[in-house]
Amino acid sequence: MPPMDTLAPPVETRTNLIGLSREALTLALLERGEKPFRAKQVWHWLYHQGARDFAAMTDLSKDLRVRLEDHFVLRRPAVAREQTSTDGTRKWLMEFADGQKAESVFIPEDDRGAVCVSSQVGCTLTCRFCHTGTQRLVRNLTSAEILGQFMVARDSYGEWPTPNDERRMISNIVLMGMGEPLYNFDEVATAMRIVMADDGIALGKRRITLSTSGVVPEIRRCGAELGVNLAISLHAPDDDTRSMIMPINKKYPLKELMQACRDYPGASNARRITFEYVMLKGINDTAAHARALIRLVRDIPCKFNLIPFNPWPGTPYECSDAATVEAFAQHLWDAGFSAPVRTPRGRDILAACGQLKTDSEKLSAKEIRLRESEAAWAEKEAAL
Ligand code: SAH
Ligand code: SF4
Repeated sequence: MPPMDTLAPPVETRTNLIGLSREALTLALLERGEKPFRAKQVWHWLYHQGARDFAAMTDLSKDLRVRLEDHFVLRRPAVAREQTSTDGTRKWLMEFADGQKAESVFIPEDDRGAVCVSSQVGCTLTCRFCHTGTQRLVRNLTSAEILGQFMVARDSYGEWPTPNDERRMISNIVLMGMGEPLYNFDEVATAMRIVMADDGIALGKRRITLSTSGVVPEIRRCGAELGVNLAISLHAPDDDTRSMIMPINKKYPLKELMQACRDYPGASNARRITFEYVMLKGINDTAAHARALIRLVRDIPCKFNLIPFNPWPGTPYECSDAATVEAFAQHLWDAGFSAPVRTPRGRDILAACGQLKTDSEKLSAKEIRLRESEAAWAEKEAAL
């Protein structure tokens, strides 16, 4: 029998090239004695052709491919589970190298569709209506893991090499999966810059939408550094209601949030900010709420996305009645705002908004209370 330690799986020490910024990829190859034009070739193989291994890179010499293999890997997340809904929505449970998992969803429309990717395992925020919010933050995802989710979706639909815009089924990315993307901005930004690069996946910034619960300073950074479309999880028109369902509002109240929206670069009638608004029965869905909402956003080029609340086991909330949702939407339309009601997709496979959740550890009720009292203390301290 061989000694026990030889049975342990080898620890991977090679660098993953996927998810490295262009500069980092060039540097990694330079350190191995490869000229910068090699980085250009490899980039093309990774992000235009979708190569899964070095052997596929047929315009590199065999020697070079072997050398690359010695030092580098091309690692995508593994698919731990794939489910397809009766409405065509597809959900993947992605597993990363350390065994952590996150979910990603593809939502097909007629001739296009968006991949919804996660940015964290769990979330530090505890929005009351969100399933992910009951989960402890385990860790931020790396750029490789964020980008990898999109690449796995493309693998699943055979969309390599990168098709022309008109022929793409996977035409958009929404950062609306698990986690708060603006609490992991650097990794999200690296992944999105790779997605946007012309000589690769080449998805324009108008095809990317980042959704945030309202991390004001990072909204400004996102505008300045990425310029992607912005969606704000608004969900209430006044601070009292919003702070009750979204504790982050105590840190960044509506006045500051609305100013960050006004200042968002490119916000215009052609490129409006989306306000997501989850319809919660008896909480935020009356005519008075609609009127307050209209007053709140009247000077911001924006549109609404009304989301019927998707229930999950143990939730204290219910979705507003259909007639209430319709009346609420009508108020907004009458005031000149686009306010479609989002049709829930993939509910049968728990792929709809706010239903994503992996089996990583849950917060106990006590921990949720503790977090809240910590937030309250921080707030008091800040006021002193
Ligand atoms: N953390 C980011 C992005 C992920 S959540 C954010 O909060 O914006 C994606 C969207 O789903 C958000 O608008 C969120 O408020 C909404 N959502 C969360 N739970 C929901 C639920 N149970 N039903 C419907 N929408 C929900
Ligand atoms: Fe986190 Fe967004 Fe869920 Fe709030 S709604 S808990 S920010 S994932």
